[in-house]
Amino acid sequence: MEQRTYKLGTEQFGAIGFGSERLEDVSLEETVKMFDYAIENGVNVLDMYIPNPVVRDHVGIALEGRRDKMLIQGHLGTIHKNDQYERTRDMDEIKFSFDDMLTRMKTDYIDFGMIHYVDTEEDFNKILDNKIYDYALELKKQGVIKKLGFSSHDPIIATKMASLDEMALCMFSINPAYDMENSPDTDIWKMMEHEGFDVETAKMNPARLNFYNFCEAKGIALTVMKAFGGGTLLTDGTSPFGKAMSIYQCMKYALDKPAVVSTLLGYASLEELKAALKFYEISEAEKDYSDILTIKDFGVTGRCMYCGHCQPCPKSITIAYVNKFLDLALIGDSVPDTVRDHYLALPHHASECIKCGKCEKNCPFGVQIREKMEKAVEVFGI
Ligand code: SF4
Ligand code: SF4
Repeated sequence: MEQRTYKLGTEQFGAIGFGSERLEDVSLEETVKMFDYAIENGVNVLDMYIPNPVVRDHVGIALEGRRDKMLIQGHLGTIHKNDQYERTRDMDEIKFSFDDMLTRMKTDYIDFGMIHYVDTEEDFNKILDNKIYDYALELKKQGVIKKLGFSSHDPIIATKMASLDEMALCMFSINPAYDMENSPDTDIWKMMEHEGFDVETAKMNPARLNFYNFCEAKGIALTVMKAFGGGTLLTDGTSPFGKAMSIYQCMKYALDKPAVVSTLLGYASLEELKAALKFYEISEAEKDYSDILTIKDFGVTGRCMYCGHCQPCPKSITIAYVNKFLDLALIGDSVPDTVRDHYLALPHHASECIKCGKCEKNCPFGVQIREKMEKAVEVFGI
């Protein structure tokens, strides 16, 4: 399993993680088998937004004696009520549900205490006014929460959340259709139905791409939810592109985004988990998602997607990284030191480019790579 890191911490994240939302109908026996297989194969990130007591109990048993094998995202702001999940901003409910999670999961700490599902300005203010953020900070002070995180679907609000002190991680919904969602008010339920999505007029939303770059520059880790768009991207009939993507194309798309450390997938069986982990056995061609993004001009043309299809380069330049650091360097008025340091640490630099143009023939998105290399030399001096 590929391991990924981030600047604000030392944890190593397996690039394929575990979302708990589909464990609700899975037996204890199957859950334990799934965790056995996941841990044996390098899956070490688990999201536990689901407050269902049965799932918490099952996961607690499955992780008994090996709690340290999973980085757990535990949420502040979900509660199990009337036999279903509910989002809450009530402090008593938040405290009760968080304590219940620790008890049922047989642990006395959570790796990432996640302020749950913040998508609007009003809710952002509520997080601060209702003292939910203060409560999260207090838990961190006590060592019950190791680091702070949050989940969101809106790039503007997520940027505000990510700017708060102590924020280290964000779980964000990432897939090609959501990245083309340009509605000013993000409503995840409408997004899941692809309401208002018109393939003829759809364009990449720069605010979302800017948010990923913001996280990369600040060192915040991104974990991915809804990589399959709630499953809608996986069939011709439900995909807003009119053409199904494979799970591997969706995973690759998410993992190519800046700052992403892990894509968290929901599994309802051991077989589904095994299928997802085949990601590292299949060919690069089977993960290539360019056929979807080039159906028409979605505003992607000329923009690097960091997919790596332009390799190999005769001078061994890792073109996607050069482009990524160049994009990050060009966001503000000056080049952040951390971006410059990362660029300088690359084994090969843009100055080694011999302008052969081979990479441009391989790039499905029409990126003028030779021009980018020239710009990188201008910006970084090498
Ligand atoms: S230059 Fe093209 S092929 Fe290379 S990483 Fe960027 S988008 Fe992908
Ligand atoms: S043009 Fe430059 S970056 Fe592209 S393959 Fe040739 S040497 Fe490598």
